[in-house]
Amino acid sequence: MNCRECAEHLYEFLDKELTPEVEREIRAHLEDCPPCGEHFDFQRLFLDFLQARCRARGAPPDLKRRILRELFDE
Ligand SMILES: [Zn+2]
Repeated sequence: MNCRECAEHLYEFLDKELTPEVEREIRAHLEDCPPCGEHFDFQRLFLDFLQARCRARGAPPDLKRRILRELFDE
Protein backbone atom coordinates (compact mmCIF):
# COMPACT_ATOMS: atom_id res chain seq x y z
CA MET A 1 0.00 0.00 0.00
CA ASN A 2 1.38 3.41 -0.95
CA CYS A 3 0.52 6.85 0.44
CA ARG A 4 -2.14 7.51 -2.19
CA GLU A 5 -3.96 4.25 -1.53
CA CYS A 6 -3.64 4.81 2.16
CA ALA A 7 -5.28 8.24 1.97
CA GLU A 8 -8.12 6.88 -0.15
CA HIS A 9 -8.78 4.02 2.24
CA LEU A 10 -8.78 6.38 5.19
CA TYR A 11 -12.20 7.62 4.13
CA GLU A 12 -13.60 4.13 4.55
CA PHE A 13 -11.50 3.44 7.61
CA LEU A 14 -12.90 6.47 9.41
CA ASP A 15 -16.41 5.34 8.53
CA LYS A 16 -15.68 1.83 9.82
CA GLU A 17 -16.49 0.35 6.40
CA LEU A 18 -13.25 -1.53 5.88
CA THR A 19 -12.58 -5.22 6.17
CA PRO A 20 -10.19 -6.23 8.96
CA GLU A 21 -7.59 -7.17 6.34
CA VAL A 22 -7.50 -3.72 4.75
CA GLU A 23 -7.58 -2.10 8.17
CA ARG A 24 -4.44 -4.02 9.08
CA GLU A 25 -2.75 -2.84 5.88
CA ILE A 26 -3.58 0.76 6.69
CA ARG A 27 -2.34 0.48 10.25
CA ALA A 28 0.89 -1.09 9.01
CA HIS A 29 1.41 1.72 6.51
CA LEU A 30 0.71 4.40 9.09
CA GLU A 31 3.30 2.91 11.41
CA ASP A 32 5.92 2.87 8.65
CA CYS A 33 5.08 6.26 7.17
CA PRO A 34 5.35 9.20 9.61
CA PRO A 35 3.67 11.76 7.27
CA CYS A 36 0.58 9.57 6.92
CA GLY A 37 0.65 8.69 10.60
CA GLU A 38 0.57 12.34 11.62
CA HIS A 39 -2.21 13.00 9.15
CA PHE A 40 -4.26 10.13 10.46
CA ASP A 41 -3.88 11.07 14.12
CA PHE A 42 -5.18 14.51 13.34
CA GLN A 43 -8.08 13.14 11.34
CA ARG A 44 -9.09 10.77 14.07
CA LEU A 45 -8.99 13.39 16.77
CA PHE A 46 -11.04 15.76 14.70
CA LEU A 47 -13.60 13.15 13.71
CA ASP A 48 -13.91 11.89 17.27
CA PHE A 49 -14.78 15.43 18.20
CA LEU A 50 -17.28 15.73 15.35
CA GLN A 51 -18.93 12.41 16.13
CA ALA A 52 -19.24 13.15 19.82
CA ARG A 53 -20.75 16.50 19.07
CA CYS A 54 -23.19 15.29 16.43
CA ARG A 55 -24.11 11.88 17.82
CA ALA A 56 -27.49 12.96 19.16
CA ARG A 57 -28.65 14.30 15.81
CA GLY A 58 -26.67 11.88 13.65
CA ALA A 59 -23.29 12.72 12.13
CA PRO A 60 -23.41 14.87 8.98
CA PRO A 61 -21.64 12.60 6.46
CA ASP A 62 -21.47 15.25 3.76
CA LEU A 63 -19.68 17.63 6.10
CA LYS A 64 -17.28 14.94 7.25
CA ARG A 65 -16.35 13.92 3.73
CA ARG A 66 -15.89 17.52 2.64
CA ILE A 67 -13.50 18.14 5.52
CA LEU A 68 -11.54 15.00 4.69
CA ARG A 69 -11.27 16.00 1.03
CA GLU A 70 -9.96 19.40 1.93
CA LEU A 71 -7.36 17.95 4.27
CA PHE A 72 -6.22 15.36 1.74
CA ASP A 73 -6.23 17.67 -1.26
CA GLU A 74 -2.84 17.93 -2.85
ZN1 LIG B 1 2.25 7.17 3.57
